[in-house]
Amino acid sequence: MTYSEWFYAHGEKHKKIMDRLEHLSDTEVVHYFRFENMVEKEPDFCPLYKENKKCHDLRGLNCYLCACPNFRFKDKGYHVREGRTLFSACSIKSKEGGQFITDDAIHQDCSKCSVPHGETYVKTIFDRDWFEMMENVT
Ligand code: SF4
Repeated sequence: MTYSEWFYAHGEKHKKIMDRLEHLSDTEVVHYFRFENMVEKEPDFCPLYKENKKCHDLRGLNCYLCACPNFRFKDKGYHVREGRTLFSACSIKSKEGGQFITDDAIHQDCSKCSVPHGETYVKTIFDRDWFEMMENVT
């Protein structure tokens, strides 16, 4: 599965949940997407939920912005420099981000970044339409 395929499949899962949460306020929706609640109520949203495992070891981990809106990617790559294809990058150049560099590729490394998982940030860019939210963040 390419990143694009995963991204669109994930967005569809998000939409199905949101269709069931129309009765909740925006704040209640954000709270619904807290890791502990999602593990209990939406076990199929993330493969890690079955192991009760977090993608990032953070207190207050929120899953609303999974597939961070600042993550930029192209399955075929942006450009090639010094023999390496750049496949992904961070649009805000988060200090918590890094890069995986191999002999022929560069990928964005978000494993230490907490930016999209904090509720303050989620509320800042919140949109009930996940695809629109992902597209609108610059
Ligand atoms: S480094 Fe952080 S802000 Fe940047 S794309 Fe990755 S998760 Fe998002």
